[in-house]
Amino acid sequence: MKQLDQFIEWMHGSVPQEVSRQQFLQWAGRGITAGVVGSLAASCRTGQPTNNSPSITYTASDGTRVPSSSWQTPPAKVPDNPEQPIQLEEWKAKTEKETDTPAPLPNDQRVGYAIVGLGHLSLDELLPAFGESKKSKVVALVSGSPEKMRKVAQQYGVKPESCYSYQDYDKLKDNKEVQVIYIVLPNSMHAEYTIRGAQAGKHILCEKPMANSVQECQAMIDACKKADRKLMVAYRIQYEPNNRMIRQMVQDQQYGTVKFIEAVNNQNSANPQHWRHIKALAGGGALPDIGLYCLNTIRYLLGEEPTEVFAYQYSTPGDPRFREVEELMSWQMKFPSGVYASCATHYGVHEARRYRVYGERGWMELSPAFAYKGIQMQTSHAEGKIERVEQPKLTEKNQFATEMDHFSECIMQNKQPFTPGEEGLQDQRIMEAIYQSAKEGKPVKLPEIKTKDTFRGPMPKEA
Ligand code: NAD
Repeated sequence: MKQLDQFIEWMHGSVPQEVSRQQFLQWAGRGITAGVVGSLAASCRTGQPTNNSPSITYTASDGTRVPSSSWQTPPAKVPDNPEQPIQLEEWKAKTEKETDTPAPLPNDQRVGYAIVGLGHLSLDELLPAFGESKKSKVVALVSGSPEKMRKVAQQYGVKPESCYSYQDYDKLKDNKEVQVIYIVLPNSMHAEYTIRGAQAGKHILCEKPMANSVQECQAMIDACKKADRKLMVAYRIQYEPNNRMIRQMVQDQQYGTVKFIEAVNNQNSANPQHWRHIKALAGGGALPDIGLYCLNTIRYLLGEEPTEVFAYQYSTPGDPRFREVEELMSWQMKFPSGVYASCATHYGVHEARRYRVYGERGWMELSPAFAYKGIQMQTSHAEGKIERVEQPKLTEKNQFATEMDHFSECIMQNKQPFTPGEEGLQDQRIMEAIYQSAKEGKPVKLPEIKTKDTFRGPMPKEA
């Protein structure tokens, strides 16, 4: 039975830590003998294939004892390094698409997150994404609704003593399991909760838009610097494989010099009472909420900063949704290399989230480009008499898990995040210039920045 104990020990990672030997026997089926389990454990360690003993039998439905099916564990490489995946025996031809075996870290080695604000993004995307993350785990919640928080805590295994009200927010300081505070609140609350979170000694992952003004963004950066804590803005698109690939194609000039980009992010909103339609809470309308994706992604693709913007803003008169915030923002941006971008964002038309990058010899498109799932690439270029239109399909990854794992890695390895606070501040500067241009009806110039990727940290290796 010692072998069984060893096997249970080896299984930690795929079986909950608290599994008892007795529970395991129940799960595994009482017909499996400890000898077989022992030989399986031995095979996984040594990487040798094993076969079962022909002496095993089980009781069939008619009561007869029949020999168990022949089973085998093929050879597998099991690296000691927790960040390297188990390598299974290959069976597909090299002509087939490669698959990834994830290498999730054991729970006790992951970075612990407190999620602040249990709204749509947290419940629909972020909390489920922890299930696909490799380096991050949820360990605390902050909410104004004890009833909702209790249910969420049960769903995701968060301890009752790690659930906080907004009044108790600063007590996160004493929770050693929490390394990161992820702020998923209305935009006007990002600055306060970032500053207080940094003062509580925690690293901060803040949802986009970073805040409602340049001053707020700067105060957030200063507070995190003062507290020697990391600050990252949750720009998931910069970690998404299709968008990363387009950036690479742009930078490699795959279709020659890029000259023009068009981008659109639209969705139809319904509730005039929602914070997104109240200027003091949202900071603006379609632009900071969804138009920001066009702005931030174009800056990311080019690695450049615009030197001029020219904008037009419109809201349907009498529409209660747009009493305080804009329905449409349409704007152009001019970049130092000569690229022009034309962008539009709308809160009153059906969903469309796409962009197209035009080079001298071809174009590259994502449609949808900014969705949570199902991002689709299309490219087109001419080869003789053929117009070659292609739709490369990349392996989909959970964008939120990838983004959180990047921040966790930055904390574990003491690296600067790829999208630090400075990246959010630069978007805020440009958005303020866009509003100014729309108000004045003329172009607004921005300081020329000659270096590339000026506001970003080192590019993460993995998307
Ligand atoms: P939501 O309205 O669904 O949730 C907001 C949460 O904040 C709710 O739980 C609400 O109870 C809480 N809250 C606390 N104080 C509040 C107040 N004074 N008024 C209103 N709510 C208050 O919003 P959401 O869609 O989850 O957005 C939250 C943040 O996440 C926003 O900054 C938004 O821009 C961002 N977001 C990012 C993405 C992305 O893809 N990265 C997607 C959606 C939202």
